[in-house]
Amino acid sequence: MISYIGIGSNQADPIKQAKQAIEALKGLPNTQLTNKSSLYCSAPMGPQDQPDYINAVAQLDTQLSALDLLDELQKIELLQGRERKENRWGPRTLDLDIILYGDQQINNTQSSVNN
Ligand code: ADP
Ligand code: MG
Repeated sequence: MISYIGIGSNQADPIKQAKQAIEALKGLPNTQLTNKSSLYCSAPMGPQDQPDYINAVAQLDTQLSALDLLDELQKIELLQGRERKENRWGPRTLDLDIILYGDQQINNTQSSVNN
């Protein structure tokens, strides 16, 4: 399955965080990193009283299920010091979002997976 991962960081040396995240993606089980974008600097969405973000996108070819992939991404976030707080769009050391997982549309709120 081809999946695209959005990478974002605006804390604790964001360039280093993004590069480290790309290295961590290379190490995911049953997964190849098949492409990666340059690093981009972008102004924050939402609260403006936070540093600019470093963003990138990685393309993976993975045999992990979408939920297993999300699990692995959240492990990487935690390893890189991610703290989950109430405030949405607040500053973070690392955010890894699944932008695309093939062409699947997955609604996990009712534990259902639709193709
Ligand atoms: P955001 O990325 O919108 O700033 P967070 O990273 O704090 O928000 O939280 C994302 C939440 O959304 C997590 O609890 C995660 O389980 C859930 N989630 C749902 N769909 C996705 C997806 N495609 N990629 C990453 N997280 C997702
Ligand atoms: Mg996220």
